Amino acid sequence: MSQPYLSIVIPIFNEEENIPNLWERLSRTLETHFNDPAKPWEVIFTDDGSRDRSLELLKEIAAKEPRVSVVEFNRNYGQHSAIFGAFAETKGEIVVTLDADLQNPPEEIPKLVAKMEEGFDVVGGWRQGRTENDSLFRTLPSKIVNAVTRKTTGVALNDYGCMLRAYRRDVVDAMQQCHERSSFIPALANSFAKHIAEVPVAHAERAAGESKYGFWKLVNLQFDLLTSFSLIPLQALSVLGSLIAFLGFALFVGLVIYRFMHPEGTVGGVFSLFAILFFFVGCQFMAFGLLGEYIGRIYQEVRNRPRFVVKRVHKQ
Ligand code: UDP
Ligand code: MG
Repeated sequence: MSQPYLSIVIPIFNEEENIPNLWERLSRTLETHFNDPAKPWEVIFTDDGSRDRSLELLKEIAAKEPRVSVVEFNRNYGQHSAIFGAFAETKGEIVVTLDADLQNPPEEIPKLVAKMEEGFDVVGGWRQGRTENDSLFRTLPSKIVNAVTRKTTGVALNDYGCMLRAYRRDVVDAMQQCHERSSFIPALANSFAKHIAEVPVAHAERAAGESKYGFWKLVNLQFDLLTSFSLIPLQALSVLGSLIAFLGFALFVGLVIYRFMHPEGTVGGVFSLFAILFFFVGCQFMAFGLLGEYIGRIYQEVRNRPRFVVKRVHKQ
């Protein structure tokens, strides 16, 4: 097979109900829009430690289709690690990632590729009609994630959470040189890209199975974003600290003056003191927590364990 032009990357974790349909729609799209022999395509699935029949189904596809390979992880490492696992196998000039649950319609891939061919380094999908298809519990956190990401990474995009995205080869190579454990791929990619665009894409409900993101996984993702792309929280901490210290000092001066002016009166009780104390203690704990978050991440980095372990790559 000649050098692929387009690589499709799909992370899979317990998606047995979606794989047949996904492959049907994906292969149809690829066959109709990318049948130019000068621009061959390939599909790389990562089986992220699925406990259902996903891996078997994927291996069946790879056995029939030489343009498909399956990276098998030895256990579950999470969506972004799964994507990195597949990146290592890609050879295409353009790399497109998408979710397996058919929330990102494979039919939108040609749109992204067309945009890439206009000369962009990264093209993101911007999900349309999200609020009808996803519950508020799911859209509200992503709204927050988007807003914070826009602030911390400095790139104004509308939709960071959409995993239907296209990347140029050099951006993928640069990302692979980043060995940090917690990385949010869309934000990481943008830090290596010069020309970034967004195209509106359709967005459906998850076709089958359950979302693999619970509340805590989202909270964790948010911390990843905040701490791995900026020092703003740490800087905010010192600003907050000096502000509080200043207020405390002002209060002290105020109390002393009050004492001199009203020598006979007692200062308004021990309760106000407690209020102030609790406020400070609260702030300190907040600060400790945030420092701990950074230190924990540093600890994970210095241990330098592999991000994931590839058991085998299945291909013809
Ligand atoms: N996924 C994965 N490993 C995980 C969790 C998810 O490979 O630990 C894959 C999953 O199979 C799907 C994609 O990542 O293809 C997105 O997952 P999901 O649809 O659960 O996320 P959501 O759409 O709820 O953000
Ligand atoms: Mg999904």
